[in-house]
Amino acid sequence: MINARPHLERIAGYALADLGESDLISLAQNESAFEASPSAIDEGKAACSSPERYPDTEWSDLRSAIGDVHQLDSSRILCGAGSMELINVIIRTFAGPADEVVGTEYGYGYVRTAASLTDAQYHKAKEIDCTVCVHEILNTVTPSTKIVFVCNPGNPTGTMISHDEVSRLRRTLSEDVLLVIDQAYGEFADDYNDPVRTFELVDQGNTVVTRSLSKAYGLAGIRVGWGYFPKEIATQMRKVLNPNNISVPAQVMAAAAMRDQKHMRSIVHRTIEIRERFAGECRALGLDVPQSHTNFVLIRFPSSEIAADADRQLRAHKLALRGMGPYGLAECLRATVCHQETMDRCLKVLKEVMR
Ligand SMILES: *Cc1c(COP(=O)(O)O)cnc(C)c1O
Repeated sequence: MINARPHLERIAGYALADLGESDLISLAQNESAFEASPSAIDEGKAACSSPERYPDTEWSDLRSAIGDVHQLDSSRILCGAGSMELINVIIRTFAGPADEVVGTEYGYGYVRTAASLTDAQYHKAKEIDCTVCVHEILNTVTPSTKIVFVCNPGNPTGTMISHDEVSRLRRTLSEDVLLVIDQAYGEFADDYNDPVRTFELVDQGNTVVTRSLSKAYGLAGIRVGWGYFPKEIATQMRKVLNPNNISVPAQVMAAAAMRDQKHMRSIVHRTIEIRERFAGECRALGLDVPQSHTNFVLIRFPSSEIAADADRQLRAHKLALRGMGPYGLAECLRATVCHQETMDRCLKVLKEVMR
């Protein structure tokens, strides 16, 4: 029998949330609890009526919608089948065996998988209080480091570092190290963040910013993400990306959703309101919840046993949170912010657990 390449045989595939029985309510994957823009849904339906042609390989309309919203040069935007595809392609384009990819202690788990797929070494920089630490990242970087990933705001922590810290990281890193700023949750933090200045870092030629339509736009199922890239980096990555990566209906839906900023902001606004109430109630039970800048909260229990017990009891009540064992945070569960009624059900179980 044929064997896969040895580095692939050694690794496990990327594990998504364990949703067990299908009647569980998922608070496990940070999808939006709120519906996508109605115009995106209408236009998507219409686009499904003529599937005979391949999609636009330049994502022209989608890129121009993104460029208009964020005031970016649309020729330097690349779109992916989710930002996961872009993360994967960034690593495949710039790292290979013997190269190092640096992420942070609780940074997005898929980066490790994508690095392993190319047989690159993945190293994690410690975080302090579940928050990215620039000093620790700089200590982890070596002359073999090709790419540094910073998820800001972070998943699964929800915490964020300031633009000044990100820009200090860029200034201090060697010029030939690519800095990737993963802003899958950027829209939830844009009021605190400085999105314009973050995108400006890209002009320096060795920094990229990725964003997603899966979270704040409520479009996880259609798989669209995008990033802003220096021109030469975009040119190289374009060769690696699947030329027909985003289907016609997905491009149409994503463009319509981008043009409906009002709807996106209403999703963000409702999510933050419910998140803050829920986090406050958890803290009142004696649970530790770091300030989140995303659509989820990280709940820290007094011990990993209590966290496991909470997970069991929540699942008995048909509520699936995400266990954080794989991140080395077995005393934590991550809860996606859902409708108020779901969060209330969740809180009721947590009250029982903490009694
Ligand atoms: C959800 C998520 C992504 C991937 O998003 P897609 O666009 O759905 O592929 C990337 N990074 C982080 C940190 C995420 O949480």
